[in-house]
Amino acid sequence: MSEVNVISISGGKDSTALSLLSIDRDVPNRIYVFADTGNEHSITYEYLDYLEETLGIEIIRVKADFTKQILRKRNTVKTKWRKEGISLRVIARVLTLLKPTGNPFLDLCIWKGRFPSMKARFCTEFLKEKVIEEQVIEPLIGKYSTIISWQGQRADESASRAKLPEMSAVFGDMETMKGIFNYRPILKWTAEEVFAFHKKHGIRWNPLYEKGMSRVGCMPCVNGNKGELKKIAEQFPEVVERIRQWEEIVSQTSKRESATFFPAVNDPTVKTDDKIFFRTHGINRMIDWAKTSRGGRQHDFLNQEPTDAQVCQSVYAICE
Ligand code: SF4
Repeated sequence: MSEVNVISISGGKDSTALSLLSIDRDVPNRIYVFADTGNEHSITYEYLDYLEETLGIEIIRVKADFTKQILRKRNTVKTKWRKEGISLRVIARVLTLLKPTGNPFLDLCIWKGRFPSMKARFCTEFLKEKVIEEQVIEPLIGKYSTIISWQGQRADESASRAKLPEMSAVFGDMETMKGIFNYRPILKWTAEEVFAFHKKHGIRWNPLYEKGMSRVGCMPCVNGNKGELKKIAEQFPEVVERIRQWEEIVSQTSKRESATFFPAVNDPTVKTDDKIFFRTHGINRMIDWAKTSRGGRQHDFLNQEPTDAQVCQSVYAICE
């Protein structure tokens, strides 16, 4: 029984620094893992290939599967919804579309009948934490006495991250170091140090940073700010179109018949008594709003530091 090191990679700068550090230190039994949400930009997939090739490592790709949950929901629609008085027209439409697509992010939203949000951030739990726990960590239990999960959190990202210890036990004993541990080796690093570490090793950072993205992860992230949304719309119209299609699918399979990727209340021109509908208050309207910086729709978050709520609280710190 020995030690195994699980290094979670998002394709962002912090987890790349973790990978470099793990190689520098030559820690034993390294497992590199990427939880694919299905809401990633193609540049990130290409970057993972680049890391594998340049660093000579294998990055295991894992992803969630919500087939069982969606099939269970079909039964609920057939039985419970009818008892609740939902119209046959709605039930028939939902049953036509309520099928797994194979895309984890979309299937999670189809199952839940809504998109995650800053307040209900179930995406991190279902698309990342559980997947890594169930598909990577749990199979290691019993094979290794010490399982160390490397995490890319940095103290200067948020007040809550600043309180985290460098090493903590999920399960086990810190004295003997037998059990499962979270390890945050770059906790005290600044973003500048992280980028400098890439340069020192001659490794490129994810090109998305040069396209104005402050964080790498889902595109878009439910925590994204107005400035990021504007840049996504300008450079990646295909991402906006994909989200528009997802809003259509999730709306058509939800009881409320409407679901928007971003809560419509993020747009300050939306009044509390407005009737919210995905076709009028969905991603296209948010993009229109994101492009404004003056006049009646001004509400510019541009250049604001992310708040604690915007920084992903994933134990694996996969959401930058
Ligand atoms: S990057 Fe954002 S949208 Fe994606 S799982 Fe993390 S919090 Fe959710």
